[in-house]
Amino acid sequence: MKKGFVYLVGAGPGRADLITVRGAEVLKAADCVIYDKLANPALLQFVRRDAEIIHVPKRIGEGSCTQDEINKVLAEKALAGKTVVRLKGGDPCIFGRVAEELAVLIEAGVNFEIVPGVTAAVAVSSYTGIMLTDRQYSSQVTFVTGREAPGKQDTNIDWEVLAKFPGTIVFYMGMGTLDSTARSLIENGKPAETPAAVIANATFPTQRVVRAPLERINETCEQQKIKPPAIVVIGAAAASDMRFDWFTKRPLFGRNIVMTRDAAGNADFAAKIVRRGGNPLEFETIRIKPLTDSNDFLRTLAKLEKYDWIILTSGNGVTTFFDALESMGKDARVFESAKVAAIGGRTAERLSDFGIKADFVPGIFTGRELGKQLIGFTNLRDKKILLLRSQLASNELVEILARAGADVDNVALYTAKAAKSDCAWLVDGINDGTIDWLTFASPSSVDAFFEQIGVEAANSAKVKIASIGPVTSERLKGLGVKVDVTAKEHTLDGLLDAVEEQENKS
Ligand code: SAH
Repeated sequence: MKKGFVYLVGAGPGRADLITVRGAEVLKAADCVIYDKLANPALLQFVRRDAEIIHVPKRIGEGSCTQDEINKVLAEKALAGKTVVRLKGGDPCIFGRVAEELAVLIEAGVNFEIVPGVTAAVAVSSYTGIMLTDRQYSSQVTFVTGREAPGKQDTNIDWEVLAKFPGTIVFYMGMGTLDSTARSLIENGKPAETPAAVIANATFPTQRVVRAPLERINETCEQQKIKPPAIVVIGAAAASDMRFDWFTKRPLFGRNIVMTRDAAGNADFAAKIVRRGGNPLEFETIRIKPLTDSNDFLRTLAKLEKYDWIILTSGNGVTTFFDALESMGKDARVFESAKVAAIGGRTAERLSDFGIKADFVPGIFTGRELGKQLIGFTNLRDKKILLLRSQLASNELVEILARAGADVDNVALYTAKAAKSDCAWLVDGINDGTIDWLTFASPSSVDAFFEQIGVEAANSAKVKIASIGPVTSERLKGLGVKVDVTAKEHTLDGLLDAVEEQENKS
């Protein structure tokens, strides 16, 4: 039997792409991934579709039975011959109880590798500009656990020494004991006016920073309702230069943006929102159902060589098409000498993932423009054209191409089925004004969304509505929904550009 192996991987502080290259690499190789609440679920995008995913809600407290359970599962899976990744928040070896997990693995004779991660304190520093070290005022830094409250019997923390520490003090897990920590430091001689800062949800679009003198840091956090996970920084470093704070100045920082695509589309969109500092909220409205086992598709696939042009009009179409080829043991060579057109940059990008360079991409990404511009690009008279796209796509493109004298076959690759999602959080968020934007990237997601959420809710609240292009906007207006912005470039980036432009105005 194959020998199992365990990777203890630092997931980084939160934002998914702050994992290391090595971390992402071993996630891709994993048969089984074990992760807890501090590891961002978006990291699961790296994981193979057939891998087993085990979520462990780790409870607080020494010897909690869940930690023992995690240790047991780790060893069991590895002994069953699996490549196991244990994802741990931040760095595995900083307040990560990794030694307990290693002891169990060594006992069981399981081999392991530890992959470091960006620990919370270090990420806090980059994402706020609070420098933990500075040649002017802090030549040393110490990481302390807040779990060992002052007064605890067998504590390792010497409060007298800590109060005299002449550098930056960083507390992990320090929120529950912040009041007594601050008091102890002051009682032992640290000046009450020493700068302090608390940073919650670092690297996430929900990051919050509170600054106050040590004597008032706890009450300030209470007033501002700061919740863990948070890092506490004490020392001159905490009074940092506000111009170093780049993160909260990102264009969409802190904006709650609802995505209404299919699951894979939402994941793709989420990464773009995060890059601009926004907070992506997922609401799955549609599920993509491949139709590539239909006779129509299979017959078409057998005679692709007879087409002059093959047109793909979405990233989903490209993925569905190549998934079907893969399952039949075929590859991009099925296109033979046919030319390939893509509706837009994203579709062309997906095609290039499979080794196909699109011969034509229109300047404006709609079906109508694709038709019009393709006619301008080449003579289509008597040319055989194949459209591979969604069953729900409109007939307009077919008609434009047929009018130019082309012989058009239109074959459905997939359809979109409405999905029902839990919508209570969404309705509450719209009503209480915490949701800033609802975004729509196709008419089918508009239909599916407003089957579940009332049009009045969206129109009456302060939430704004963004659409990817004219076809989607028409569908929204047809339902009586106000449209605040329509993207000029009909892509997800174009949609976010339009949202940003509107945010800058208001
Ligand atoms: N191994 C982790 C720490 C685990 S202890 C690491 O290296 O980061 C858990 C503590 O980490 C939390 O109580 C909090 O103090 C800190 N923490 C983790 N993620 C954080 C985040 N995104 N923002 C602020 N603090 C965080």
